[in-house]
Amino acid sequence: TTIGPQRDSTTSRARELAGRASAIIPGGVNSATRAIGSPWAFSSAKGSTITDADGRVYTDYHAAFGAILLGHADERVNGAITEAIRDMDLVGLGTTDLEVEAAELTIDAIPSAEMVISTMSGSESVLQAIRLARGTTGRDLIVKFQGCFHGSYDAIARNVISSPEHAWKFDPNSSGILNDALNHTLIAEFNDLASVEELFDQYPDRIAAVIIEPVPHNVGSLIPEQAFLEGLRSLTTKNGSLLVFDEVITGFRHAIGGYQELCGVTPDLTTFGKAMGNGYPVAGLAGSAEVMQHFTPTGGAVMLAGTFNGNAVSMAAAIATIKVLRDPKVGFYEHVYRLGDRMREGLRSITTEHGIPAVVSGIGSIFVTYFLDREVQGYRDLLHNNDASYETFHRRMIDKGSFMYPMALKRNHISLAHTDEDIDRTLSQADEVLGQMAR
Ligand code: PLP
Repeated sequence: TTIGPQRDSTTSRARELAGRASAIIPGGVNSATRAIGSPWAFSSAKGSTITDADGRVYTDYHAAFGAILLGHADERVNGAITEAIRDMDLVGLGTTDLEVEAAELTIDAIPSAEMVISTMSGSESVLQAIRLARGTTGRDLIVKFQGCFHGSYDAIARNVISSPEHAWKFDPNSSGILNDALNHTLIAEFNDLASVEELFDQYPDRIAAVIIEPVPHNVGSLIPEQAFLEGLRSLTTKNGSLLVFDEVITGFRHAIGGYQELCGVTPDLTTFGKAMGNGYPVAGLAGSAEVMQHFTPTGGAVMLAGTFNGNAVSMAAAIATIKVLRDPKVGFYEHVYRLGDRMREGLRSITTEHGIPAVVSGIGSIFVTYFLDREVQGYRDLLHNNDASYETFHRRMIDKGSFMYPMALKRNHISLAHTDEDIDRTLSQADEVLGQMAR
């Protein structure tokens, strides 16, 4: 397995920067999953490309873990921010034009949204959702699914990518979290309604919420069965629990109204973030007025606080991004669905041609190649993925110039800035790489 470009130790700017960073920033990175084998450092990001500090240009399918939807440094978004900050940075009192406009656009977009709050990250939105669910129901337990990731908040930081021995068992993402916090979160199996029913039977009147990535993109792209999502809706309603869709990745990406627009299932609460600001920090939580009234500013008892919430940069970024997504002249969804299909179909025929057992999955802008010889329904099937091949494929694609995050189960993203030529070039690189791997 290669580990990224071989860099000259005397002239490499990437090596120099990464060296300085690792002396003073733990591991040289500000988020653990940015460490992908050193030395990596980047100097620019534009359109569908990222350029490393030594001037190597890559077609970017990493998209900052999905925070980029329109392409890097989109002029419509950057222009709107520049204009907004001429008038205001942050006042931190009452509200502003930008906050009202962003909230109205969000509510208009997300089918289940009657009220919305703005936060600075997906993790904060999830924290608020879980606290609100507990505060509203007066119950203590949360249900999540093996394989879903919901950010860094203590209550939910367990059982994402687990080894076969740890799947569905106690598998914390971090030390330093109270076992009590983690043990109040129960683990179910995606696409398996019976596993959720069992938990409701085992803990009657104790489950505050079921939280789910409607499409678990943190393990690539598991496709939800419609009956499963509908079943979750009726099960939570029947048991007096809230259904929380974590649409931090799927929100605004798969449809303007997120995956809930596509599946027609209405959650009580929705978290969203990432791509809605096209690379700038903005996220939020939306829900029914009945539930959202439990926040303190409305007279409820659930704390709502955040110095930077609703700042001008974040709001202007969200407003501009949503307007581009909604613009029929731009045709964002047609573009990324068409290119996504082209990529998936291409990868399917290349893997078939080389006799590599693979499942190419995804929706719209997201594509993944599992190295698997079976159909994928749930996490159980992913335990059979050939992780080494998955990682080797992505690392060799990076060497060829297409940046695909080099870790098993990680997804790839297509943006509005990607072109047919980008996809075709990447497919011919994939043909070479997979051809070599098949030998
Ligand atoms: N929820 C999902 C589904 C995510 O994928 C992530 C981040 O990857 C989060 C929540 C946390 O978001 P953030 O990194 O903005 O805190």
